Amino acid sequence: MTRARLTLFDTTLRDGAQTNGVDFSVEDKVLIAGLLDELGLDYVEGGYPGANPTDTRFFSEKRTERARFTAFGMTKRAGVSLSNDPGVNTLLAAQSDAVCFVAKSWDHQVKVALGATLEENLEGIRQSVAAAIAAGKEALVDCEHFFDGYKANPDYAIACARTAYEAGARWIVLCDTNGGSQPAEVEAIVRAVSVDVPGSHLGIHAHNDTEQAVANSLAAVRGGARQIQGTLNGIGERCGNANLTSIIPTLLLKPIYAQAYEIGVTLEALKGLTALSRRFDEIVNRAPNRQAPYVGASAFATKAGIHASAIAKETSSYEHVEPESVGNHRRVLVSDQAGRSNLLAELARLGIPVDKSDRRLDMLLAEVKEREAIGYSYEGADASFELLARRTLGNVPDFFTVESFHVTVERRLNALGKMVSVSEAVVKLIVGGERLLTVAEGNGPVNALDRALRKDLGVYQDVIADLELVDYKVRILNGGTEAVTRVLIESRDSSGDSWSTIGVSENVVDASFEALIDSIVYTLIRKGVAPN
Ligand SMILES: [Zn+2]
Repeated sequence: MTRARLTLFDTTLRDGAQTNGVDFSVEDKVLIAGLLDELGLDYVEGGYPGANPTDTRFFSEKRTERARFTAFGMTKRAGVSLSNDPGVNTLLAAQSDAVCFVAKSWDHQVKVALGATLEENLEGIRQSVAAAIAAGKEALVDCEHFFDGYKANPDYAIACARTAYEAGARWIVLCDTNGGSQPAEVEAIVRAVSVDVPGSHLGIHAHNDTEQAVANSLAAVRGGARQIQGTLNGIGERCGNANLTSIIPTLLLKPIYAQAYEIGVTLEALKGLTALSRRFDEIVNRAPNRQAPYVGASAFATKAGIHASAIAKETSSYEHVEPESVGNHRRVLVSDQAGRSNLLAELARLGIPVDKSDRRLDMLLAEVKEREAIGYSYEGADASFELLARRTLGNVPDFFTVESFHVTVERRLNALGKMVSVSEAVVKLIVGGERLLTVAEGNGPVNALDRALRKDLGVYQDVIADLELVDYKVRILNGGTEAVTRVLIESRDSSGDSWSTIGVSENVVDASFEALIDSIVYTLIRKGVAPN
């Protein structure tokens, strides 16, 4: 059976840039375009040349090798000639292989938002597409609000798509701009449109406002569309765009799609997906979503003891695909329900050799349970668990000793008469027989402590130089008679890998210090440092 080719169009750098809190620099864009190109995307939409200096500079040269580098912009405005429309001319002058025009396809929007006649809008589509082709570029047309437009006036929505197709657009992309459409509607509407515009020229651009963006994209494919637009990790305004990080493995690994369609991403490249997803989060400075399908830290994590022993026997019972196929791995969570089978499976994964009958396993199990009873939770702190296991079963070298630390918080009026808060931490360590004293200021006690700790670790300083704190969570637990504080810290280094550590104490600074120390020791072990 010959498989139909599906085209993947990435709009992370254009529509994804609308995400609250995301602001790409040109350097970010160059890096991300390279990652997408390497993954095997067919199109990389880079932004809106002419709209802002970043995008204009980004489009001063072509930024992809394999993928079609695509510029985005509006169709010609009504009432001006093409040569007098600066927007279209800037767009055509950009260094891109393709141009994606956004066009209104909802009659109401044409009248209200554009203030144009329905025919003027069609003429704008026609002339813009023709101009792009005359400029030697491939033309795509995003039909904005297509599904809502179709529901209101199917004839006009189809007329927009048809006009773009007849003018020579390679792809006519049907957009669910406000993200409210449902899969059954999307499939039916795409199928209806494919009578006028062949499915081999139809694309889908879905938003996630009812958490159906991935489902809607796949529904459109069932309806006949052959291009899917989406973003890395599903970023995008409001609830995000269709998540390519979920769509790509689904197309490659699920037989229902894999047998019918082929895409430009190989199974080999798919193994880099988890790393790519984490790398991307790092670039946009967001903590990775642990529950993200396929690539999340919890995507292949199982908690209950009974499941863990079943997983050890037959992995397919709780895993819908092999974690390794997307570069992720199996995690068996250690919790107070944990049995020996949980522990053994987790230790095997961590590469800690231990005999099934080793009596230290019972010690470890008892230790985990005891600690969980006072507030520790190792499900979210894999690195601290590994340290605890290594300490109990093997040995963790004494890299350094903390002699003491103290932190002060001072609120005072500054020279301008404004109240400011300054924290200062002093840490005394013994490293390789040498006594070190470091002092640092921070915007809070934990920040000051973190800075002081990582300022000078003597002979190990080079090893921890790229260690970075990415997330810090505090939770007050009301177990027993007194409240205790649980601190979870997520750290990462320049490899892009991240890990979590935990600290528990009646005192938030103490709990933080414990988690910070664990993170440093974990880094030293991870990098195979020999104690000095
Ligand atoms: Zn969009």
